Amino acid sequence: MTEPGASPRELEAENESLRARMNYLMEQAERNHSIMCRHQAFDLEIVGAATFPELVGTIFRTLPIISDLDIVTLCLVDPEADIQTVMQRLGVDFTVLPHLVFVDNVSALGFGPSPATPPKPLMGPWVPRMHQAMFPQAPAGLQSVALVPLLRNKRIIGSLNLGSLDPARFTPALGTDFIEHMASIIAICLENVISNEMLKYIGLTDSLTGVYNRRYIDRRLLEEIGRARRQAYRISCMYIDIDHFKAVNDSVGHQGGDEVLREVAARIKTELRASDALGRFGGEEFVVLLVDADVESAAICAQRIRASVADTPFELSTGEKLPISVSIGVATLDDFERDHAIEGVAQQLVAQADSALYQAKEAGRNKVVSFDEE
Ligand code: GH3
Ligand code: MG
Ligand code: MG
Repeated sequence: MTEPGASPRELEAENESLRARMNYLMEQAERNHSIMCRHQAFDLEIVGAATFPELVGTIFRTLPIISDLDIVTLCLVDPEADIQTVMQRLGVDFTVLPHLVFVDNVSALGFGPSPATPPKPLMGPWVPRMHQAMFPQAPAGLQSVALVPLLRNKRIIGSLNLGSLDPARFTPALGTDFIEHMASIIAICLENVISNEMLKYIGLTDSLTGVYNRRYIDRRLLEEIGRARRQAYRISCMYIDIDHFKAVNDSVGHQGGDEVLREVAARIKTELRASDALGRFGGEEFVVLLVDADVESAAICAQRIRASVADTPFELSTGEKLPISVSIGVATLDDFERDHAIEGVAQQLVAQADSALYQAKEAGRNKVVSFDEE
């Protein structure tokens, strides 16, 4: 402060310096306001993410920009690999998410072995020996990192990991309120999309055998016919029914019958390509959609399935062994019946496979029959 009676020159100098300070504060306030707006937009975007890949994709794409970071990664605790399995079944491609890391134990996250109280963010210099696992593709010259626990109901579900080339960006002395708030929103969003995806998965799968259910196959068939029409490839359909399954239940009981159903599903599955879809249509009936397969290759695949079921007797958990066979009807959609509604075409394809199956049963079972137009 200038003394009372200061000279006009001194007053002017003080005025100058106050003005500069004020400008600095205004700029700071504007910068903070703009950071806050960007973060609010980010919060809205992640809250609105409907799927797991959309959410993590948004975090990896947007957070480095709005927070001026050189790398952002996510670790998720997934002890039984349930999240990975379900996401893979729902078609998530993890190769496009290199900054997503799954760990099977909380202790792998760097917050210490099973911390008693909810841990605080860890901030400090980048130490490859300690941090490499959380930053599998760390940029060259990384200097400081923050490992922020993602907490839900005091449980650690993972960590949000931030890295900067600036050694002063993350230091143990830095306040953590802002980062913790951001992590809490991310944790809620992650938990939400993961449970939504789990529900979606449960709604599309058959709980006894783990293959898809009828609802999924019906929907997938419509999608595949649409795509097959656009790209002019063939799709085939197999209708598979276990022979004399009533007798199987009668001899080994319902529980034994269930084991047979699971094993049949597993044997069918090993004969299929990743692009094919296997569903249980109810009871002891399965339907397979073969993408880009003509009637000959579908029939060859069906013969492989028939043989893999019939050639090796099934061994139940009781030690009991029993022979099992399946009958299979095959149908193919090759002229695309472009003038017809997709729903009708789909129903017709399945009905043709079913009618070929009926002929396979008539012909003595343990047979493959392809649908014949005539
Ligand atoms: P076919 O060779 O003509 O197909 O004879 P089948 O005995 O297999 O004939 P059908 O299709 O009539 O019998 C199906 C049986 O499958 C009847 C039902 O008790 C049994 N089943 C249906 N769902 C289940 C299930 O979830 N578990 C078990 N264990 N059995 C089931
Ligand atoms: Mg049946
Ligand atoms: Mg049957």
